[in-house]
Amino acid sequence: MMDSSESETLALPGGETRVLWRRSSRARRISLRIEPKGGVVVVTLPPRAGRRAGLALLTAHADWVASHLAALPGAIAFVPGALVPIGGVEQPICHVPGARRGVWLEGGEIRVSGDVAFLPRRVRDFLRAEAKQRLSALVAEKAASLGATVRRVRVRDTRSRWGSCGADGSLAFSWRLVMAPPFVQDYVAAHEVAHLRHMNHGPRFWALVRKLSPHTDAAIAWLREEGTRLIRIG
Ligand SMILES: [Zn+2]
Repeated sequence: MMDSSESETLALPGGETRVLWRRSSRARRISLRIEPKGGVVVVTLPPRAGRRAGLALLTAHADWVASHLAALPGAIAFVPGALVPIGGVEQPICHVPGARRGVWLEGGEIRVSGDVAFLPRRVRDFLRAEAKQRLSALVAEKAASLGATVRRVRVRDTRSRWGSCGADGSLAFSWRLVMAPPFVQDYVAAHEVAHLRHMNHGPRFWALVRKLSPHTDAAIAWLREEGTRLIRIG
């Protein structure tokens, strides 16, 4: 069976709710989860489960769904005037139509030239490039201190993890980390670099992470508290 998805807005006991129905050939049972980016509840149906059973589960967990959706931080789109953190410091997006300079940081603002229709994409491309630059520098410094070789550093739009380390020694990071404070970027870079030595999360791995990044515990706590906010931006 093909995997598929479709969304709709339903009137649940907790109010109007956007529901994304996902049909998965690998799912074993019906499940619910909140997808923070879109502010939707995802109902995953295994091959033989019907919509009626999904609705029953949604209704039974209506309070859980409503409270989790209500607890999501507000979504922030890349539009003129929006406050977007860079390195943990909030900066407004300022549209400068005639400047012909692309996107640049100046005077505590994210300045964007050109047609406003292209502004969201330009800001996203700029932040991705900034993320790649900042994380590559951190990775290079930490890998050098270990004498380790990094094959490649990439940035992606991952939502479930902040970084990953491939078996071939290539590292990948969420571009959204560019919005986090420097000590958080430092920790995530250290975490993935430490995987070049230990492909597990054992005690020796964590000892190395803490050596590479002194604010590891604070960074983990920050990501737990604030990570969803970053996913709701852009
Ligand atoms: Zn890890």
